[in-house]
Amino acid sequence: MKVHKSDGACRECGGQLQVVDADDATMTVLCEDCGDEYLVESDAFGDGGTMYYVGFLAEQAEGVPDEPEDIEGDSAVDEE
Ligand SMILES: [Zn+2]
Repeated sequence: MKVHKSDGACRECGGQLQVVDADDATMTVLCEDCGDEYLVESDAFGDGGTMYYVGFLAEQAEGVPDEPEDIEGDSAVDEE
């Protein structure tokens, strides 16, 4: 998933970034120009930044159905 230049660019060369991986809190970005690959926070790309994070996860969810997702601590137990 490409990162728009107005949202973020390679920290090394200012080139075109692509989101290649993401987990709970970080994204891995790859520079198409110099090939540098590094971690950024999921909200690294400013106001619209999380759209890359969410968008990437959505793309992955559609394209890679065999990766199970752990859901923690949200058990619906009613205490009375
Ligand atoms: Zn670069």
